[in-house]
Amino acid sequence: MTKENVNIGTKAVWAGEKEVLVHGATQVPVVVSVAYNYDDMDEWYEVATGKKKGHIYGRNTNPTVQAFEDKVKILEGAEAATSFSTGMAAISNTLYTFLRPGDRIVSIKDTYGGTNKIFTEFLPQLNIEVALCETGNHEAIEKELEKGCKILYLETPTNPTVKITDIERMARKGKEAGAIVVVDNTFATPINQNPLELGADLVLHSATKFLGGHADALGGVVCGAKELIEPIYHYREINGATLDPWAAYQLLRGMKTLKLRVEQQQKNALAIAQFLEQEELVEAVYYPGLESHINHDIAKKQMKGFGGMLSFAVKGGMDAVRILLPNLQYANRAANLGAVETTYGPARTTSHVECTPEERAAVGIPEGLVRISAGIEDTADLIQDLQQAFAILKEQTVLVGK
Ligand SMILES: *Cc1c(COP(=O)(O)O)cnc(C)c1O
Repeated sequence: MTKENVNIGTKAVWAGEKEVLVHGATQVPVVVSVAYNYDDMDEWYEVATGKKKGHIYGRNTNPTVQAFEDKVKILEGAEAATSFSTGMAAISNTLYTFLRPGDRIVSIKDTYGGTNKIFTEFLPQLNIEVALCETGNHEAIEKELEKGCKILYLETPTNPTVKITDIERMARKGKEAGAIVVVDNTFATPINQNPLELGADLVLHSATKFLGGHADALGGVVCGAKELIEPIYHYREINGATLDPWAAYQLLRGMKTLKLRVEQQQKNALAIAQFLEQEELVEAVYYPGLESHINHDIAKKQMKGFGGMLSFAVKGGMDAVRILLPNLQYANRAANLGAVETTYGPARTTSHVECTPEERAAVGIPEGLVRISAGIEDTADLIQDLQQAFAILKEQTVLVGK
């Protein structure tokens, strides 16, 4: 058994840590020091100029942060990785590293709300042309790629209707067009999907979500070939969106249980999706693991599991959501996802809060759409919780004579 062929769950526990362990400790230290001492002026110079391994200043590198980067890098099968203070910093720094005035970027309409804001608000200010295609319409993306582009930016599954894009097919076309192919892999996690294996150039994560898994630390990371990661690292070290060592430690510790969590989360997500599918007050259910999902076949082809994210539209829109969600016992009603606790949130207050109702409608998000991030609780309890909440909703709907 070599290091390379060990399975991903084992890698999640062990990978990336050895180099920074000290004093025989079994756990990675949180190095809070902002700077590093050098008695030898020549050694200091060698480290500062990158000729020798080591750390100089916390905005550039840090041992705890490095262990986190190394672990993600190994899980994604990448040559290099660099980390950020948040997922949005990973996304924005990656885009600003490569895009110049006059460049073109091709993406899809329903990326994460913050990403969509970069595309619609900030990039146009820099005279960067953004072509946003209907999510799931591969032909539309191919047509835009043929016009030439610098970056093809994908996110799959998407937030919150969990639409799937064929990474292999799009990466091939993107490369033909000379584009750098970037994939936001936050929803799938490296346990379920490895975009680099499917032909992408860069894979990025909001580590705040599934990687950390405990909703107690913000972070972001991007992985890929050294020649692409180096300029992104340089952009970040100068512009300053550095990951904090305490957060890096929390994310690193969370990642040790990534595989266990994702397995339970997707088991719960499927059970919830199947329950909602047969519930009469539910209008639509979106989960790539359901055969009824429009992209189920692509999901089956490129994902090892279907993930912990799903969404549904309840009959009666926001009025029904206002009754249903507060009556759930084992749920946070919150804007995050990927945590060990099951989390519910309407798209209008979570992923797409930055958008107007018209903008949400344009990307196919009804006002009553609820996103669920399945937690690691016992499946039967989550189903029972939904049953009792829907029973209350039915009672109240009858009372108001609807
Ligand atoms: C949350 C999220 C982001 C942004 O990450 P932050 O850590 O909140 O900045 C980006 N992409 C996806 C898919 C997300 O869910």
